[in-house]
Amino acid sequence: MKQTNISVFIPHTGCKNLCSFCNQRTISGCQTPVTVNELHKTLSFQLDNLRAKQIKAQIAFFGGSFTAIDRGYMTELLDCACGFVKTYPDVYAGIRCSTRPDCIDAEVLEILKSRCVMAIELGAQSMNDEVLAANQRGHTAKDVEVSSRLIKQYGFELGLQMMTGLYRDTPQYCIDTAKRFIELGCDTVRIYPTVILKGTELDRLHSMGVYDSFDFDTTVELCAQLLEMFGRVDIPVIRMGLHASKDVENSMTGGVYHPALRELAESRIYLKKLLSLCSEAGKYIIYTDKRNISKLLGQSGKNRSELLKRGITFKLKEENGTEIRVERIG
Ligand code: SF4
Repeated sequence: MKQTNISVFIPHTGCKNLCSFCNQRTISGCQTPVTVNELHKTLSFQLDNLRAKQIKAQIAFFGGSFTAIDRGYMTELLDCACGFVKTYPDVYAGIRCSTRPDCIDAEVLEILKSRCVMAIELGAQSMNDEVLAANQRGHTAKDVEVSSRLIKQYGFELGLQMMTGLYRDTPQYCIDTAKRFIELGCDTVRIYPTVILKGTELDRLHSMGVYDSFDFDTTVELCAQLLEMFGRVDIPVIRMGLHASKDVENSMTGGVYHPALRELAESRIYLKKLLSLCSEAGKYIIYTDKRNISKLLGQSGKNRSELLKRGITFKLKEENGTEIRVERIG
């Protein structure tokens, strides 16, 4: 059975920080926190919908620092959601939430554990203390490590989120962050290239000319490397790039935002594979599963053009279940 998330955004509620990149209201596309009644309505409405589609869902509290919001409000939301999980286990497969690394302790984990939470995602953003400080995160890499270990000890699924291209960031720091995530044994990862939003500290630094995010090509190449790193150790990258949103598009002043960013990064991985398998100029047949074709060819046939520049031409043939297989014919 397929699984999805019913996402409930809790914008900026309870957060005392102002991270350099954050305009939480724009990112979540939502201005006011959800009420318990609204949550109840949403989960009731989704019941029939999910059943008809034969999809199970986790109820996901995203968008802010869930464990730092008013404790009474947090437990009311959890009690409501947990009620649905317990009453309709065929539809609702637990709860997940995202929070800051310095908003986790044993007490809050006990509360989450007793209220159907299965997975906790930490907005780590970077494992480089210089980058964290420059972006006013208010926590250190050590906080991420301590919270991650505690989350795992309590038996939750651990998700870690990272950003690329923050102020004072480098591609190597991002690679190092991914290595630390892997060492921490995270179960899932989200990767968010920095989008510079109006009214944020990054926007101010950008407009003064003292900061720019990584350019588009560097970001796609870096995302491809990160996908490969996590792929090698079977850690799913469950999100790459912000969700498509008019709010983000309208208030973006720089950085990298592309609705098909992951597909571009995957195409970059295919290009590398093609270049290593078709190492000499010539004619080839390339076999691959139907689902890989668009990624293998790249956006607007970019990968084919790259090979052509090196004197390599190829015909494509579908082969069920094949990742990529190459035969030289001339
Ligand atoms: S902790 Fe999260 S919600 Fe708070 S300012 Fe930073 S990114 Fe925004």
